[in-house]
Amino acid sequence: MSDAIGVAILGLGNVGSEVARIIESSASDLAARIGAPLEIRGIGVRRVADDRGIPVELLTDDIDALVAREDVDIVVELMGPVEPARRGILGALNAGKSVVTANKALLAQSAGELAEAAEKARVDLYFEAAVAGAIPVIRPLTQSLAGDSVIRVSGIVNGTTNYILSAMDNTGAGYDTALAEAGELGYAEADPTADVEGYDAAAKAAILASIAFHTRVSADDVYREGITKISADDFDSARALQCTIKLLSICERLTDNEGHQRVSARVYPALVPLTHPLASVSGAFNAVFVEAEAAGELMFYGQGAGGAPTASAVLGDLVMAARNRVQGGRGPRASRYAKLPIAPIGLIPTRYYVRMRVADKPGVLATVAAEFSKREVSIATVRQEGEVDETGARLVVVTHKATDAALSETVAALADLDVVLGVASVIRLEGTQE
Ligand code: NAP
Repeated sequence: MSDAIGVAILGLGNVGSEVARIIESSASDLAARIGAPLEIRGIGVRRVADDRGIPVELLTDDIDALVAREDVDIVVELMGPVEPARRGILGALNAGKSVVTANKALLAQSAGELAEAAEKARVDLYFEAAVAGAIPVIRPLTQSLAGDSVIRVSGIVNGTTNYILSAMDNTGAGYDTALAEAGELGYAEADPTADVEGYDAAAKAAILASIAFHTRVSADDVYREGITKISADDFDSARALQCTIKLLSICERLTDNEGHQRVSARVYPALVPLTHPLASVSGAFNAVFVEAEAAGELMFYGQGAGGAPTASAVLGDLVMAARNRVQGGRGPRASRYAKLPIAPIGLIPTRYYVRMRVADKPGVLATVAAEFSKREVSIATVRQEGEVDETGARLVVVTHKATDAALSETVAALADLDVVLGVASVIRLEGTQE
Protein backbone atom coordinates (compact mmCIF):
# COMPACT_ATOMS: atom_id res chain seq x y z
CA MET A 1 0.00 0.00 0.00
CA SER A 2 1.37 3.40 -1.03
CA ASP A 3 1.25 6.60 1.01
CA ALA A 4 -2.17 8.22 1.45
CA ILE A 5 -3.57 10.32 -1.40
CA GLY A 6 -4.66 13.74 -0.09
CA VAL A 7 -8.07 14.92 -1.33
CA ALA A 8 -9.59 18.41 -1.13
CA ILE A 9 -13.33 18.68 -1.80
CA LEU A 10 -14.68 22.06 -2.89
CA GLY A 11 -18.37 22.13 -1.94
CA LEU A 12 -20.39 20.23 0.65
CA GLY A 13 -23.86 20.40 -0.90
CA ASN A 14 -26.01 17.64 -2.46
CA VAL A 15 -23.07 16.01 -4.24
CA GLY A 16 -20.10 17.04 -2.08
CA SER A 17 -21.65 15.67 1.13
CA GLU A 18 -22.32 12.29 -0.57
CA VAL A 19 -18.77 12.16 -1.91
CA ALA A 20 -17.35 12.88 1.57
CA ARG A 21 -19.65 10.24 3.08
CA ILE A 22 -18.66 7.51 0.60
CA ILE A 23 -14.93 8.29 0.98
CA GLU A 24 -15.33 7.64 4.71
CA SER A 25 -17.81 4.72 4.60
CA SER A 26 -15.98 2.80 1.83
CA ALA A 27 -12.46 3.72 2.93
CA SER A 28 -10.99 0.22 3.02
CA ASP A 29 -12.52 -0.90 -0.31
CA LEU A 30 -11.40 2.30 -2.04
CA ALA A 31 -7.89 1.91 -0.59
CA ALA A 32 -7.70 -1.68 -1.92
CA ARG A 33 -8.88 -0.62 -5.39
CA ILE A 34 -6.49 2.34 -5.55
CA GLY A 35 -3.49 0.80 -3.80
CA ALA A 36 -3.41 3.70 -1.30
CA PRO A 37 -5.89 5.16 1.17
CA LEU A 38 -7.76 8.39 0.37
CA GLU A 39 -7.57 11.07 3.05
CA ILE A 40 -9.77 14.17 3.03
CA ARG A 41 -7.44 17.08 3.90
CA GLY A 42 -10.04 19.83 3.72
CA ILE A 43 -13.48 20.81 2.39
CA GLY A 44 -14.22 24.22 0.90
CA VAL A 45 -17.57 25.80 1.83
CA ARG A 46 -19.08 29.27 2.31
CA ARG A 47 -20.39 28.56 5.80
CA VAL A 48 -17.79 27.17 8.18
CA ALA A 49 -19.75 25.80 11.17
CA ASP A 50 -19.73 22.85 13.55
CA ASP A 51 -23.29 21.69 12.71
CA ARG A 52 -22.52 20.22 9.28
CA GLY A 53 -21.82 16.61 10.24
CA ILE A 54 -18.15 17.02 9.34
CA PRO A 55 -15.34 17.85 11.80
CA VAL A 56 -15.23 21.65 11.70
CA GLU A 57 -11.43 21.68 11.44
CA LEU A 58 -11.79 20.14 7.94
CA LEU A 59 -13.93 23.06 6.73
CA THR A 60 -12.55 26.24 5.21
CA ASP A 61 -13.82 29.17 3.17
CA ASP A 62 -10.33 29.83 1.77
CA ILE A 63 -10.51 27.90 -1.50
CA ASP A 64 -7.22 29.28 -2.88
CA ALA A 65 -5.24 28.17 0.17
CA LEU A 66 -6.91 24.73 0.26
CA VAL A 67 -6.11 23.81 -3.37
CA ALA A 68 -2.49 24.94 -2.95
CA ARG A 69 -1.80 22.82 0.15
CA GLU A 70 1.23 20.55 -0.25
CA ASP A 71 -0.59 17.54 1.24
CA VAL A 72 -3.41 17.75 -1.35
CA ASP A 73 -2.93 15.56 -4.45
CA ILE A 74 -6.43 15.64 -5.97
CA VAL A 75 -9.06 18.41 -5.89
CA VAL A 76 -12.73 17.48 -6.32
CA GLU A 77 -14.70 20.57 -7.38
CA LEU A 78 -18.43 20.38 -6.48
CA MET A 79 -19.33 24.03 -5.84
CA GLY A 80 -21.18 24.85 -9.04
CA PRO A 81 -21.35 28.14 -10.92
CA VAL A 82 -18.45 29.29 -13.00
CA GLU A 83 -16.71 31.34 -10.31
CA PRO A 84 -15.06 30.64 -7.92
CA ALA A 85 -14.97 27.09 -9.37
CA ARG A 86 -12.85 28.16 -12.36
CA ARG A 87 -10.30 29.92 -10.18
CA GLY A 88 -10.17 26.98 -7.76
CA ILE A 89 -9.67 24.43 -10.56
CA LEU A 90 -7.01 26.49 -12.36
CA GLY A 91 -5.23 27.07 -9.02
CA ALA A 92 -5.26 23.32 -8.39
CA LEU A 93 -4.06 22.37 -11.89
CA ASN A 94 -1.32 25.00 -11.86
CA ALA A 95 -0.16 23.63 -8.50
CA GLY A 96 0.12 20.13 -10.04
CA LYS A 97 -3.02 18.59 -8.51
CA SER A 98 -5.33 16.35 -10.54
CA VAL A 99 -8.90 17.62 -10.71
CA VAL A 100 -12.32 15.95 -10.76
CA THR A 101 -15.33 18.19 -11.42
CA ALA A 102 -19.08 17.88 -12.10
CA ASN A 103 -19.35 21.49 -13.28
CA LYS A 104 -21.01 21.40 -16.72
CA ALA A 105 -21.54 25.16 -16.92
CA LEU A 106 -17.83 25.80 -16.41
CA LEU A 107 -16.72 23.03 -18.79
CA ALA A 108 -19.08 24.20 -21.54
CA GLN A 109 -17.50 27.64 -21.29
CA SER A 110 -13.85 27.00 -20.38
CA ALA A 111 -13.00 23.36 -21.20
CA GLY A 112 -10.15 24.46 -23.48
CA GLU A 113 -8.50 26.64 -20.84
CA LEU A 114 -8.81 23.90 -18.19
CA ALA A 115 -7.54 21.16 -20.54
CA GLU A 116 -4.50 23.28 -21.45
CA ALA A 117 -3.68 23.86 -17.77
CA ALA A 118 -4.00 20.10 -17.09
CA GLU A 119 -1.81 19.34 -20.11
CA LYS A 120 0.86 21.81 -19.01
CA ALA A 121 0.93 20.41 -15.48
CA ARG A 122 0.70 16.81 -16.80
CA VAL A 123 -2.15 15.95 -14.45
CA ASP A 124 -5.64 14.45 -14.89
CA LEU A 125 -8.81 16.47 -15.41
CA TYR A 126 -11.89 14.23 -15.19
CA PHE A 127 -15.57 15.20 -15.46
CA GLU A 128 -17.76 12.09 -15.88
CA ALA A 129 -20.44 13.56 -13.56
CA ALA A 130 -20.85 16.74 -15.64
CA VAL A 131 -23.10 14.97 -18.19
CA ALA A 132 -25.99 12.72 -17.20
CA GLY A 133 -25.07 12.23 -13.51
CA ALA A 134 -24.46 8.58 -12.70
CA ILE A 135 -24.52 7.40 -16.32
CA PRO A 136 -21.08 6.49 -17.68
CA VAL A 137 -20.89 8.36 -20.99
CA ILE A 138 -17.73 10.50 -20.97
CA ARG A 139 -15.41 7.54 -20.38
CA PRO A 140 -17.15 5.28 -22.97
CA LEU A 141 -16.83 8.08 -25.56
CA THR A 142 -13.20 8.95 -24.77
CA GLN A 143 -11.92 5.43 -24.11
CA SER A 144 -14.19 2.54 -25.16
CA LEU A 145 -15.01 4.18 -28.52
CA ALA A 146 -11.54 5.70 -29.02
CA GLY A 147 -10.95 3.45 -32.05
CA ASP A 148 -14.37 3.97 -33.63
CA SER A 149 -15.93 6.97 -35.41
CA VAL A 150 -18.95 8.45 -33.68
CA ILE A 151 -21.62 9.68 -36.08
CA ARG A 152 -24.25 10.99 -33.72
CA VAL A 153 -25.02 11.34 -30.02
CA SER A 154 -28.64 12.05 -29.02
CA GLY A 155 -29.32 12.53 -25.36
CA ILE A 156 -32.08 13.18 -22.89
CA VAL A 157 -29.72 14.87 -20.43
CA ASN A 158 -32.01 17.14 -18.41
CA GLY A 159 -34.21 15.40 -15.84
CA THR A 160 -36.41 18.42 -15.08
CA THR A 161 -37.61 18.84 -18.65
CA ASN A 162 -37.99 15.11 -19.14
CA TYR A 163 -40.13 14.97 -16.00
CA ILE A 164 -42.34 17.84 -17.28
CA LEU A 165 -42.72 16.39 -20.79
CA SER A 166 -43.44 12.88 -19.44
CA ALA A 167 -46.14 14.32 -17.13
CA MET A 168 -47.71 16.22 -20.06
CA ASP A 169 -47.73 13.02 -22.12
CA ASN A 170 -49.11 10.80 -19.34
CA THR A 171 -51.79 13.12 -17.94
CA GLY A 172 -52.69 15.44 -20.82
CA ALA A 173 -51.70 18.41 -18.62
CA GLY A 174 -50.55 21.71 -20.11
CA TYR A 175 -47.00 23.02 -19.70
CA ASP A 176 -47.74 25.37 -16.78
CA THR A 177 -49.54 22.67 -14.74
CA ALA A 178 -46.75 20.13 -15.34
CA LEU A 179 -44.06 22.71 -14.42
CA ALA A 180 -45.89 23.61 -11.19
CA GLU A 181 -46.16 19.93 -10.24
CA ALA A 182 -42.46 19.38 -10.99
CA GLY A 183 -41.64 22.32 -8.70
CA GLU A 184 -43.81 20.93 -5.86
CA LEU A 185 -42.10 17.53 -6.10
CA GLY A 186 -38.61 19.04 -6.13
CA TYR A 187 -37.86 18.22 -9.80
CA ALA A 188 -37.80 21.89 -10.87
CA GLU A 189 -35.96 24.76 -9.21
CA ALA A 190 -37.70 27.98 -8.11
CA ASP A 191 -36.17 29.61 -11.20
CA PRO A 192 -36.41 26.84 -13.81
CA THR A 193 -34.97 28.94 -16.71
CA ALA A 194 -31.69 27.02 -17.07
CA ASP A 195 -33.61 23.76 -17.47
CA VAL A 196 -36.76 24.69 -19.41
CA GLU A 197 -35.00 27.05 -21.84
CA GLY A 198 -32.42 24.35 -22.62
CA TYR A 199 -29.28 26.07 -21.26
CA ASP A 200 -28.34 23.08 -19.07
CA ALA A 201 -28.89 20.64 -21.95
CA ALA A 202 -26.86 22.92 -24.26
CA ALA A 203 -23.90 22.93 -21.85
CA LYS A 204 -23.99 19.12 -21.84
CA ALA A 205 -24.33 19.01 -25.65
CA ALA A 206 -21.17 21.14 -25.92
CA ILE A 207 -19.25 18.69 -23.70
CA LEU A 208 -20.56 15.63 -25.57
CA ALA A 209 -19.87 17.12 -29.03
CA SER A 210 -16.32 18.12 -28.04
CA ILE A 211 -15.52 14.60 -26.91
CA ALA A 212 -17.37 12.66 -29.59
CA PHE A 213 -15.90 14.65 -32.50
CA HIS A 214 -12.44 15.62 -31.15
CA THR A 215 -13.30 19.28 -31.65
CA ARG A 216 -13.64 22.21 -29.29
CA VAL A 217 -17.36 23.03 -28.99
CA SER A 218 -18.57 25.61 -26.47
CA ALA A 219 -22.09 26.33 -25.20
CA ASP A 220 -22.24 29.36 -27.56
CA ASP A 221 -21.87 27.00 -30.54
CA VAL A 222 -24.98 25.03 -29.56
CA TYR A 223 -28.31 25.95 -31.20
CA ARG A 224 -30.94 25.99 -28.44
CA GLU A 225 -34.73 25.96 -28.08
CA GLY A 226 -36.53 25.21 -24.80
CA ILE A 227 -39.82 23.44 -24.03
CA THR A 228 -41.96 26.38 -22.87
CA LYS A 229 -44.05 26.52 -26.08
CA ILE A 230 -44.94 22.81 -26.10
CA SER A 231 -48.68 22.39 -25.53
CA ALA A 232 -51.17 19.66 -24.71
CA ASP A 233 -52.33 19.94 -28.38
CA ASP A 234 -48.80 19.06 -29.52
CA PHE A 235 -48.94 15.91 -27.40
CA ASP A 236 -52.37 15.03 -28.91
CA SER A 237 -50.86 15.30 -32.38
CA ALA A 238 -47.73 13.40 -31.29
CA ARG A 239 -49.87 10.51 -30.00
CA ALA A 240 -51.79 10.41 -33.28
CA LEU A 241 -48.43 10.09 -35.05
CA GLN A 242 -47.30 7.28 -32.67
CA CYS A 243 -44.72 9.63 -31.16
CA THR A 244 -43.88 11.38 -27.91
CA ILE A 245 -42.01 14.68 -27.37
CA LYS A 246 -38.55 14.84 -25.76
CA LEU A 247 -36.00 17.61 -25.23
CA LEU A 248 -33.01 16.24 -27.14
CA SER A 249 -29.36 17.28 -27.07
CA ILE A 250 -28.08 16.23 -30.48
CA CYS A 251 -24.43 16.17 -31.54
CA GLU A 252 -23.82 15.07 -35.09
CA ARG A 253 -20.99 14.80 -37.62
CA LEU A 254 -22.26 15.91 -41.04
CA THR A 255 -20.49 15.31 -44.36
CA ASP A 256 -21.40 17.50 -47.35
CA ASN A 257 -21.35 16.54 -51.05
CA GLU A 258 -17.68 17.52 -51.34
CA GLY A 259 -16.78 15.33 -48.36
CA HIS A 260 -16.20 18.24 -45.97
CA GLN A 261 -17.15 17.44 -42.39
CA ARG A 262 -18.82 19.70 -39.84
CA VAL A 263 -20.16 19.28 -36.34
CA SER A 264 -23.70 20.17 -35.37
CA ALA A 265 -24.66 20.58 -31.71
CA ARG A 266 -28.26 21.49 -31.00
CA VAL A 267 -30.93 21.29 -28.32
CA TYR A 268 -34.65 21.37 -29.02
CA PRO A 269 -37.87 19.55 -28.24
CA ALA A 270 -38.53 16.91 -30.88
CA LEU A 271 -41.14 14.33 -31.77
CA VAL A 272 -39.62 10.89 -31.22
CA PRO A 273 -41.34 7.72 -32.53
CA LEU A 274 -42.58 5.45 -29.72
CA THR A 275 -40.46 2.66 -31.22
CA HIS A 276 -37.21 4.62 -30.63
CA PRO A 277 -35.28 3.66 -27.45
CA LEU A 278 -35.28 7.29 -26.23
CA ALA A 279 -39.12 7.42 -26.26
CA SER A 280 -39.33 5.09 -23.27
CA VAL A 281 -37.01 7.21 -21.08
CA SER A 282 -39.53 8.84 -18.76
CA GLY A 283 -39.71 10.92 -15.61
CA ALA A 284 -36.45 12.38 -14.34
CA PHE A 285 -34.32 9.66 -15.96
CA ASN A 286 -31.61 10.44 -18.53
CA ALA A 287 -30.31 8.47 -21.49
CA VAL A 288 -27.68 8.94 -24.16
CA PHE A 289 -28.04 7.17 -27.51
CA VAL A 290 -24.78 6.86 -29.47
CA GLU A 291 -24.42 5.84 -33.12
CA ALA A 292 -20.90 4.89 -34.20
CA GLU A 293 -19.60 3.56 -37.51
CA ALA A 294 -18.39 0.17 -36.28
CA ALA A 295 -20.24 -0.25 -32.97
CA GLY A 296 -23.66 0.68 -34.39
CA GLU A 297 -26.22 1.81 -31.82
CA LEU A 298 -25.48 2.03 -28.07
CA MET A 299 -27.74 3.29 -25.31
CA PHE A 300 -26.69 4.50 -21.86
CA TYR A 301 -29.53 4.92 -19.36
CA GLY A 302 -29.90 5.82 -15.69
CA GLN A 303 -30.20 8.54 -13.08
CA GLY A 304 -28.96 11.85 -14.44
CA ALA A 305 -28.94 13.79 -11.17
CA GLY A 306 -29.20 13.54 -7.39
CA GLY A 307 -26.54 13.56 -4.70
CA ALA A 308 -25.76 9.84 -4.54
CA PRO A 309 -25.97 9.00 -8.28
CA THR A 310 -23.77 11.99 -9.15
CA ALA A 311 -21.35 11.08 -6.35
CA SER A 312 -20.99 7.63 -7.93
CA ALA A 313 -19.60 9.20 -11.12
CA VAL A 314 -17.38 11.57 -9.12
CA LEU A 315 -15.97 8.67 -7.07
CA GLY A 316 -15.24 6.73 -10.28
CA ASP A 317 -13.15 9.67 -11.52
CA LEU A 318 -11.50 10.09 -8.13
CA VAL A 319 -10.44 6.42 -8.00
CA MET A 320 -9.02 6.67 -11.56
CA ALA A 321 -7.08 9.86 -10.76
CA ALA A 322 -5.80 8.35 -7.49
CA ARG A 323 -4.68 5.13 -9.23
CA ASN A 324 -2.80 7.20 -11.78
CA ARG A 325 -1.06 9.05 -8.94
CA VAL A 326 -0.08 5.76 -7.28
CA GLN A 327 1.22 4.34 -10.56
CA GLY A 328 2.98 7.57 -11.44
CA GLY A 329 1.20 8.38 -14.71
CA ARG A 330 -1.82 10.08 -16.25
CA GLY A 331 -4.96 8.60 -17.69
CA PRO A 332 -6.19 8.97 -21.29
CA ARG A 333 -7.67 12.37 -22.07
CA ALA A 334 -10.05 13.76 -24.67
CA SER A 335 -8.36 14.99 -27.85
CA ARG A 336 -9.31 18.03 -29.96
CA TYR A 337 -7.24 17.20 -33.07
CA ALA A 338 -10.09 17.15 -35.63
CA LYS A 339 -10.93 20.87 -35.23
CA LEU A 340 -14.11 20.52 -37.33
CA PRO A 341 -16.10 23.68 -38.13
CA ILE A 342 -19.53 24.13 -36.53
CA ALA A 343 -22.52 23.78 -38.89
CA PRO A 344 -25.07 26.62 -38.63
CA ILE A 345 -28.62 25.48 -37.81
CA GLY A 346 -29.91 26.71 -41.21
CA LEU A 347 -27.97 23.90 -42.93
CA ILE A 348 -29.23 21.08 -40.71
CA PRO A 349 -31.64 18.71 -42.44
CA THR A 350 -34.42 17.31 -40.25
CA ARG A 351 -38.03 16.28 -40.58
CA TYR A 352 -40.73 18.64 -39.28
CA TYR A 353 -44.21 18.56 -37.87
CA VAL A 354 -46.18 21.75 -38.65
CA ARG A 355 -49.57 22.29 -37.01
CA MET A 356 -51.79 25.08 -38.30
CA ARG A 357 -55.40 26.25 -38.41
CA VAL A 358 -56.74 26.63 -41.89
CA ALA A 359 -59.98 27.91 -43.42
CA ASP A 360 -62.55 25.21 -44.17
CA LYS A 361 -62.71 25.84 -47.94
CA PRO A 362 -62.06 23.82 -51.09
CA GLY A 363 -58.51 24.13 -52.47
CA VAL A 364 -56.87 24.89 -49.13
CA LEU A 365 -54.78 21.72 -49.12
CA ALA A 366 -53.41 22.42 -52.59
CA THR A 367 -52.54 26.03 -51.63
CA VAL A 368 -50.74 24.90 -48.48
CA ALA A 369 -48.93 22.06 -50.27
CA ALA A 370 -47.73 24.48 -52.96
CA GLU A 371 -45.86 26.59 -50.40
CA PHE A 372 -43.96 23.51 -49.23
CA SER A 373 -43.14 22.32 -52.73
CA LYS A 374 -41.97 25.81 -53.90
CA ARG A 375 -39.14 25.52 -51.35
CA GLU A 376 -38.47 21.85 -52.07
CA VAL A 377 -39.81 20.75 -48.72
CA SER A 378 -41.35 17.37 -49.46
CA ILE A 379 -44.51 16.45 -47.53
CA ALA A 380 -44.71 12.94 -46.00
CA THR A 381 -48.22 13.10 -44.49
CA VAL A 382 -51.09 15.56 -44.07
CA ARG A 383 -53.84 15.00 -41.51
CA GLN A 384 -56.87 16.97 -40.49
CA GLU A 385 -57.36 16.55 -36.74
CA GLY A 386 -60.45 17.13 -34.59
CA GLU A 387 -63.71 18.80 -35.53
CA VAL A 388 -64.08 21.63 -38.03
CA ASP A 389 -65.72 24.67 -36.40
CA GLU A 390 -66.03 28.43 -36.88
CA THR A 391 -62.27 28.75 -36.13
CA GLY A 392 -61.47 26.51 -39.11
CA ALA A 393 -59.78 23.10 -39.24
CA ARG A 394 -56.62 21.82 -37.59
CA LEU A 395 -54.12 20.61 -40.17
CA VAL A 396 -50.95 18.69 -39.31
CA VAL A 397 -48.23 18.35 -41.95
CA VAL A 398 -45.22 16.08 -41.48
CA THR A 399 -42.35 16.63 -43.90
CA HIS A 400 -39.49 14.54 -45.18
CA LYS A 401 -36.01 15.91 -44.39
CA ALA A 402 -35.57 19.57 -45.26
CA THR A 403 -33.08 22.19 -44.12
CA ASP A 404 -34.00 24.49 -41.27
CA ALA A 405 -33.63 27.45 -43.67
CA ALA A 406 -36.12 26.01 -46.21
CA LEU A 407 -38.63 25.11 -43.49
CA SER A 408 -38.40 28.55 -41.84
CA GLU A 409 -39.10 30.24 -45.20
CA THR A 410 -42.06 27.91 -45.77
CA VAL A 411 -43.55 28.67 -42.36
CA ALA A 412 -43.19 32.42 -42.95
CA ALA A 413 -44.96 32.06 -46.33
CA LEU A 414 -47.74 29.92 -44.81
CA ALA A 415 -48.40 32.55 -42.16
CA ASP A 416 -48.99 35.11 -44.97
CA LEU A 417 -51.64 32.99 -46.73
CA ASP A 418 -55.28 34.08 -46.32
CA VAL A 419 -56.37 30.45 -45.96
CA VAL A 420 -53.94 29.83 -43.07
CA LEU A 421 -55.47 31.29 -39.93
CA GLY A 422 -52.34 30.64 -37.86
CA VAL A 423 -49.29 28.38 -37.63
CA ALA A 424 -49.63 27.04 -34.08
CA SER A 425 -46.58 24.86 -33.77
CA VAL A 426 -43.42 23.75 -35.58
CA ILE A 427 -41.51 20.86 -33.99
CA ARG A 428 -38.73 18.73 -35.45
CA LEU A 429 -39.16 14.98 -35.84
CA GLU A 430 -36.08 12.93 -34.90
CA GLY A 431 -35.25 9.25 -34.74
CA THR A 432 -36.73 8.11 -38.06
CA GLN A 433 -34.79 6.68 -41.00
CA GLU A 434 -36.39 8.87 -43.73
P1 NAP B 1 -25.12 22.64 -3.89
O1 NAP B 1 -25.96 21.66 -3.15
O2 NAP B 1 -25.67 24.00 -4.17
O3 NAP B 1 -23.75 22.80 -3.07
C1 NAP B 1 -22.79 23.76 -3.42
C2 NAP B 1 -21.70 23.72 -2.37
O4 NAP B 1 -20.64 24.59 -2.81
C3 NAP B 1 -22.14 24.20 -0.99
O5 NAP B 1 -21.60 23.37 0.01
C4 NAP B 1 -21.56 25.62 -0.89
O6 NAP B 1 -21.17 25.98 0.41
C5 NAP B 1 -20.33 25.50 -1.75
N1 NAP B 1 -19.99 26.80 -2.33
C6 NAP B 1 -20.71 27.50 -3.26
N2 NAP B 1 -20.09 28.67 -3.55
C7 NAP B 1 -18.97 28.70 -2.78
C8 NAP B 1 -17.94 29.64 -2.60
N3 NAP B 1 -17.95 30.81 -3.25
N4 NAP B 1 -16.94 29.35 -1.75
C9 NAP B 1 -16.95 28.19 -1.05
N5 NAP B 1 -17.89 27.25 -1.18
C10 NAP B 1 -18.91 27.50 -2.02
O7 NAP B 1 -24.64 22.05 -5.31
P2 NAP B 1 -24.73 20.53 -5.81
O8 NAP B 1 -26.12 20.20 -6.20
O9 NAP B 1 -24.04 19.64 -4.83
O10 NAP B 1 -23.90 20.62 -7.17
C11 NAP B 1 -22.48 20.72 -7.15
C12 NAP B 1 -21.95 20.63 -8.59
O11 NAP B 1 -22.32 19.38 -9.15
C13 NAP B 1 -22.51 21.69 -9.56
O12 NAP B 1 -21.50 22.05 -10.49
C14 NAP B 1 -23.62 20.96 -10.27
O13 NAP B 1 -23.88 21.50 -11.55
C15 NAP B 1 -23.00 19.59 -10.38
N6 NAP B 1 -23.99 18.53 -10.53
C16 NAP B 1 -24.98 18.41 -9.62
C17 NAP B 1 -25.91 17.40 -9.78
C18 NAP B 1 -27.03 17.22 -8.77
O14 NAP B 1 -27.86 16.35 -8.97
N7 NAP B 1 -27.07 18.01 -7.71
C19 NAP B 1 -25.84 16.53 -10.88
C20 NAP B 1 -24.77 16.67 -11.79
C21 NAP B 1 -23.85 17.69 -11.61
P3 NAP B 1 -22.25 26.19 1.61
O15 NAP B 1 -22.77 24.80 1.89
O16 NAP B 1 -21.45 26.73 2.74
O17 NAP B 1 -23.28 27.12 1.07
